[in-house]
Amino acid sequence: MEFKPMTAELDFAIQAVQRAASLIRQVRDEMVSGPMTKEDLSPVTVGDLASQALVSNMLAQTFPSDNLVAEEDSQGLQKPEGKEALERVTGYVRRFVPGAGERDVCEWIDLGQSYGGERFWVLDPIDGTKGYLRGGQYAVALALIVDGEVQVGVLGCPGLVEGFRPDVRGSGSIVLAARGQGTWTTPLNDPGKYQQLRVSSVSRTEDARLLRSLEDSHTDPTAIQELADSLNIQAEPVRMDSQAKYAVLAGGGGEAMLRMLSPSRPDYREKIWDQAAGSIVIEEAGGCVTDLFGNALDFRQGRTLAQNRGILATNNVLHDRFLVALKKIVA
Ligand code: AMP
Ligand code: MG
Repeated sequence: MEFKPMTAELDFAIQAVQRAASLIRQVRDEMVSGPMTKEDLSPVTVGDLASQALVSNMLAQTFPSDNLVAEEDSQGLQKPEGKEALERVTGYVRRFVPGAGERDVCEWIDLGQSYGGERFWVLDPIDGTKGYLRGGQYAVALALIVDGEVQVGVLGCPGLVEGFRPDVRGSGSIVLAARGQGTWTTPLNDPGKYQQLRVSSVSRTEDARLLRSLEDSHTDPTAIQELADSLNIQAEPVRMDSQAKYAVLAGGGGEAMLRMLSPSRPDYREKIWDQAAGSIVIEEAGGCVTDLFGNALDFRQGRTLAQNRGILATNNVLHDRFLVALKKIVA
């Protein structure tokens, strides 16, 4: 099918995610196998901060009056012990923004400290840092929120092909959605040809494939097992880092994605950069995203989904049955 990104916002988001994904891939290729002397010189630190600086700079050029809510700040870089990290971060940013200085880089990073507003962008510069380090799934996630509703979401997923098939040796995918325009994918290295993504039509809970965090500490494996048993789900849950899970669900590679609350962090509130882009990618592919109690995600609460608890995303057909089963499991 033909798909042409129609808005300046989509054009910007696709380009920003593609460049950020390319930057963090360079950081990983060059730094991961090398010796790491200090925690703050890890490839995650350098990649996260450089990716955020780059996207923030592009946003300031393209939509100067839009706010940015992003995960990182420059505090660590501004301390004497952050000097070496700041040099590295600036070196990577300069590959994409010639002439960028250390002070510019810190300023761009800190533009991400806003609390939102009527119209703002949300960025996770590297979602799934553990996957990024272990050669698994990770993503760059960028979304536009207007009046509390996600309007655009773009995921750069280096470990997916065709937008939803895990293949960490493949050339990667961009997965994008715009409100009312569907969910589409195009190759990360060479954007241009778009394929539409649709959720699966599986309607028996027995056949459902569950997607969950790879990290046990980000979820509740016991509760997921209880839920799977109560719905008579046959397949083992697929464990995957990052919002790549949301793209897999959007493309029909699974039927449900759960973020259960970890028993060690019952007060945890989802960060909006972990949910904004992924949620519209699923909705525009025909899926449904709520919290574990069936409430709509409320993106008007600042940097977290303070009014929500956990996440349930499904292919829509199965949503109500999952919510009913969850009632007996989550208090
Ligand atoms: P995933 O790769 O699905 O495990 O999600 C990664 C995201 O989980 C990270 O970007 C963190 O912001 C977020 N996270 C960190 N701690 C927790 C927690 N206790 N519960 C849920 N999510 C968390
Ligand atoms: Mg994240």
